Amino acid sequence: MKKNNSASRISIQDLFYDILIRIFLKLNVVEISVASMVCKSWNEICRNPLLWAKLDLSRLSSNAFNIPLLPDAWRGDLVSKCKLITCLKYALRLSNYNTSCLVFNFFIYLQDAELIFIAKRTPNLKRLVLPFTGKLSNNAVDIAMKSWDSLESITITAMVKTSCIFSAISKYCMTIYELKFTNYFGINDADLVVQYTPNLKLLSVRNIMVNLRALCNILNSLEKLEVVNICHGFIWDRVEGAVKAYTVRDLRNHLSLPCLRKLMFCNRRRCLRCINGNDPVRIPFGVFEDIWREDEISSLAH
Ligand SMILES: [Zn+2]
Repeated sequence: MKKNNSASRISIQDLFYDILIRIFLKLNVVEISVASMVCKSWNEICRNPLLWAKLDLSRLSSNAFNIPLLPDAWRGDLVSKCKLITCLKYALRLSNYNTSCLVFNFFIYLQDAELIFIAKRTPNLKRLVLPFTGKLSNNAVDIAMKSWDSLESITITAMVKTSCIFSAISKYCMTIYELKFTNYFGINDADLVVQYTPNLKLLSVRNIMVNLRALCNILNSLEKLEVVNICHGFIWDRVEGAVKAYTVRDLRNHLSLPCLRKLMFCNRRRCLRCINGNDPVRIPFGVFEDIWREDEISSLAH
């Protein structure tokens, strides 16, 4: 009888643990940090690797610092920045190097010190999503990417030079197979992709300007490429000094059938932008954040 009671007690404890894990998975990094200070058992739950697989700094809420809601946030607000770093120091100790996906906050102005600080504490990173604004030196990017030598996927934004990222990729991250560009995709970008990410399988250049020759280059050169998302991309090239735009139908004259089959484009207004584009909640930065956050290639969305 005693044995039965004991077994039942253990299963209730296990159930309690599982329920709390499910609840904590809904919390952001600040809330998990606070929850870990409640008691020993909550602290243990807050160290569960499941909670730290994805560190999403775009989801923040706190009374301790101003939550960034505009681009360039905290550029001059050192108090908020220091408070977040203090919080992250504690949180990343709880994570115990179990973070495999890191999403920076879209609005925070990212600089060298923060990038290096987080990179040193997330050495097992597989997916990186850069923020919208910031200023990074080549040296800082190099140090960070050296820490992230098992990186497989990056969302690249305008806040860092493509040449700078690819210089580091060529040295440390030969396992990249997913890329997303959120600003522009030109001839130089395509050359870097072809040269330094030969194992690329998925590429998203949705909702941005895409040079026709750049698109042809990657489709013709990368043998392992499976999908290129060009939903609402502005395909263009300079012809006799003038800008010429191309529709998806025009691409038939420039690409072979196997290459065309790899293209993902808006079909009958069923893409995410057509479905979500008029959501007033997203204004005024909805367009940029939509490009950054959403993607028809599910592994590149966050
Ligand atoms: Zn569409």
